[in-house]
Amino acid sequence: MAAVSEPQEFSFQAEISQLLHLLAHSLYQSKEIAVRELISNASDALDKMRYVSLTEEAHRDEAPLQIVIEGQKEPRQLVIRDNGVGMTREELVANLGTIAHSGSLEFLKKAVSQNKGDLSLIGQFGVGFYSAFMLADRVRVRTRSFKETEGWEWESDGTGTFRISPAGPLERGTEVILHLKDDVSDFVEESRIRSIVRRYSSFVPHPIRLGDQVI
Ligand code: ADP
Ligand code: MG
Repeated sequence: MAAVSEPQEFSFQAEISQLLHLLAHSLYQSKEIAVRELISNASDALDKMRYVSLTEEAHRDEAPLQIVIEGQKEPRQLVIRDNGVGMTREELVANLGTIAHSGSLEFLKKAVSQNKGDLSLIGQFGVGFYSAFMLADRVRVRTRSFKETEGWEWESDGTGTFRISPAGPLERGTEVILHLKDDVSDFVEESRIRSIVRRYSSFVPHPIRLGDQVI
């Protein structure tokens, strides 16, 4: 086994490579839902952290649980960050490298063809994370689990492989960094992000911070 202190390259499960291909040809209208999916994952991670902090003395937590979104122009990227449970290296490999439920991809493909390329149902098939590749040509996930003191970085350009490297002592939680494609450069604008969040994520039960405001 390779030493875990070195970057290591993994192949996506074949179904995921097919899914990524499908996503790369998605309609522009579907792209907004990638933000919804990443916020939904951040919110789930905060729910889990809240549970851990209520049930495990060692993890009783003072910092408020929240989601932070940042649009950056140089380099052009959209960042979605949470201080939830984070992921260990093993969890990164399992959660962001395989499809948990067999058959999901077939159902999703059917739904997409019936809805003329509309991918808005993607979250229902347990593969919402991969919608990140509708917006980004490169995705980085920097994460530290509440169970560990050091974090990990997952990185992929969405073509068959991903790479995991040690990332040192990060803040607890997960940061998803989307290197935006040219046709979605408007996704760095606060007004654009705010309207997407208001439209799709208004029922998220945690504060979502954008700039110096809570949306
Ligand atoms: P689903 O949310 O339906 O399980 P996704 O493809 O959206 O499917 O996410 C896959 C898994 O990756 C999640 O179940 C979770 O375990 C992990 N994950 C994704 N984003 C985060 C995050 N921000 N924090 C912690 N775990 C995450
Ligand atoms: Mg999800």
